[in-house]
Amino acid sequence: MNIFIEALENKSRIKDQISMLLSNEVIKLAESDWHAKRRPRHCGLTIHTGMGCPYQCSYCYIYSMGFPKKISLYPLPTLGIIYAILSNPYFIPGRNGTFLAIGSITEPFHPRIIEYTISVIRDISNYLGNPTQVSTKAYLNKEHIDDIKNANPKISILYTITTINHSHILEPYAPSPQKRFESIKILTGKNIHTSLFIRPIIPGLTDLENQNILMQGIASNVKRVVYGSLRVNEDILARLSKTLNHRIISGILNRLGGQGIGKKQIYIYSTDIKKRLVKEAMELGYKIYPSACSANVDSTGVSCYMCRMGPCGDISKLPTINESDLLELMEYLGIKLGKVSVEIGDRMIGIILRKIDYKKYGYELRNIIKTISKRDVVIRSDINKNSESIW
Ligand code: SF4
Ligand code: SF4
Repeated sequence: MNIFIEALENKSRIKDQISMLLSNEVIKLAESDWHAKRRPRHCGLTIHTGMGCPYQCSYCYIYSMGFPKKISLYPLPTLGIIYAILSNPYFIPGRNGTFLAIGSITEPFHPRIIEYTISVIRDISNYLGNPTQVSTKAYLNKEHIDDIKNANPKISILYTITTINHSHILEPYAPSPQKRFESIKILTGKNIHTSLFIRPIIPGLTDLENQNILMQGIASNVKRVVYGSLRVNEDILARLSKTLNHRIISGILNRLGGQGIGKKQIYIYSTDIKKRLVKEAMELGYKIYPSACSANVDSTGVSCYMCRMGPCGDISKLPTINESDLLELMEYLGIKLGKVSVEIGDRMIGIILRKIDYKKYGYELRNIIKTISKRDVVIRSDINKNSESIW
């Protein structure tokens, strides 16, 4: 069967199946929930199992977004979250479906919500089967880790370490890096795909500790790493200024590249530092992932070339796509095929649609093809058809 249509029909079938297990009230809540509406981002769709975080890291962006310093469970039953995800028009279920990322506005393994998070991981694995990652700073004991492995043995766990020496100042209420390394050791001992998530890189601080963090990673049997940049706004800078010295704050300001600082969060320039840290990690034998989704691809055993940072995983295992699959999908969605052009390249797929179809279906079509084919997709309106090639 056509892999695109099969995924869409699976989505309706699973949604119907889950609706039978939920009350009308939960269905109504789930349909209007955030998970039902948000467009997936670069790393996929973020899944919230709680709201707020008591760890109060100085660089954290969630407090600028209005989330509280206390943590609460997400206000839906776990199957309600799955139903909400399936109600999202941009979500595609399955192994080659949308990447899922747990842990962006809370600490998903905080004791208050860990059981709930593990249930969500289990439900995702049982009903949807999508590649799933969790980023955390929590301490996980053996029992928790067994439960996580039972819920999804292919989960990708990212352990955030920004600093070891200054954690007590910058992450005052989070478990210490030593406790995190303890959990990493148990996770790796159980063959759970675990990576260091060295982010945000705080210039003048994280870079000076890179070797030490990597060495402690090796002592905990982890040899995978993802680096990530710092993003700031006036609120985050004010919090950092209370905990870091003037030299480090000036270094951050110098990396804004002339961008004014206000309420909007902006990434500071850190390509040069990242290159250095990556080199150090490679010299120690680490596998480097360009992004968190890349670790997710590795743990699930799929491949992806959706963006310029790829390819990730074994490129020879990218899903096979042919023109008839694409044309059938377009017909299935209601697009008239008369004036459609298709080009399939090694890592890109190009499509030209009539202007009216481009406006109505362009985003949806690109999202479905890009997600499942795991390639970049360019869709253009025939009104711009000046050149011979689509891209
Ligand atoms: S643990 Fe994560 S969510 Fe919680 S305060 Fe720190 S950065 Fe924010
Ligand atoms: S190519 Fe790699 S970095 Fe890019 S979206 Fe895919 S997994 Fe992520």
